[in-house]
Amino acid sequence: MTKASKYHSVTILLLLTMLLLVTGCGLGNQTSPHEASGTPAATQSPKPSTTPPKEQVMKVSLAAVGDVLIHSSIFKDAKTKDGYNFQPMFDPVKSFIEQADIAMANQESMIGGEQLGLSDFPRFNGPYEVGDALKATGFDIVNLANNHTLDRGEAAITNTIQHFRKLGIAYTGAYLSVEDQQEIRVMQKNGISFAFLSYTYGTNGLPVPKGKPYLVNLIDIPTVTADITKARKLAEVVVVNVHFGQEYVNMPNTSQKKFTQAAAEAGADIIIGHHPHVLQPIEWITTSSGRKTFVAYSLGNFIAAQEGDLKRTGGIVQLEVQKTVRGNESQIQLINPSFIPTWIKMTNWRQYQIVPLWEAPANQLANAKASYEKTKLHMSQWMPELQFPMK
Ligand SMILES: [Zn+2]
Repeated sequence: MTKASKYHSVTILLLLTMLLLVTGCGLGNQTSPHEASGTPAATQSPKPSTTPPKEQVMKVSLAAVGDVLIHSSIFKDAKTKDGYNFQPMFDPVKSFIEQADIAMANQESMIGGEQLGLSDFPRFNGPYEVGDALKATGFDIVNLANNHTLDRGEAAITNTIQHFRKLGIAYTGAYLSVEDQQEIRVMQKNGISFAFLSYTYGTNGLPVPKGKPYLVNLIDIPTVTADITKARKLAEVVVVNVHFGQEYVNMPNTSQKKFTQAAAEAGADIIIGHHPHVLQPIEWITTSSGRKTFVAYSLGNFIAAQEGDLKRTGGIVQLEVQKTVRGNESQIQLINPSFIPTWIKMTNWRQYQIVPLWEAPANQLANAKASYEKTKLHMSQWMPELQFPMK
């Protein structure tokens, strides 16, 4: 939305409010994004009234997963007569994704399509059909800023973005142009507005093409905090995806903590981390102003072909955003955080499926029940109220 149209809407709203007050009506349960924008300048102090304003509660559920990293054994497994079908791999956990109002994934490997030549580590490129499966599973937005974004150059990024656009999946972190990069993604759901930002620590030493910084968003704290400040003016909830941390280490390091602290102070509400390929705990950061920011440091692998129990364990984080409106005042709360640990099921690098961890077959994970309990303790060590729903 442009500044001008926002002011225009605010003006109309004020006129409407005055008219309703004159005619003796209240605004009742009507709301608009502007009414409860949370910007003090846009809020009128309510006229004294004998009846307290009605309270209205709105809710949006979010879900996020870690890396969708399409190694060659995964696309070979998905091969069909006339293309690729990844959908069956996601089906066992589909219900956890589609029940969320907004679901996010880290598309770690670009999906530049077969015409560019499919490829594996260290420079990945996957088929378009990965995106089709994400869409069918219920994902709404993908993070594209990570260390593999530049693996196959600009063409793979462009193709990936074009395909997600065609599917109606929003993307952040890699863009088609400077204008595309500067347009902060804002989504409206159930009367609550969300802004999305994404960054990565680096691109495996591959230089960002000259004059094309929009191809990937790199972490630069002053830029990140400036973007968050801008996003806060556009939406009530700011969600930041960040690709950071040390691979295969299950606790956040000081640079991760530094990033999340800075992002929280700048106004981020929800920070979703990925890159280590293993799970790192979830926590609340309380900012100097007393606001709470939700942080998942690493969601591990959602689907990837990596060996080892911890690398085959990922998860779906869920969170509810609740907005309470009383008269002209509104309050946002983050409630009911939960986590569903997942397992990458496969036999001899084929028959890939993402299943709930408690369903990991005994011949793949010796004691799924014990692993599930251990994962619960690990993820909730800083957030004892974290819930672990099984359906
Ligand atoms: Zn990574």
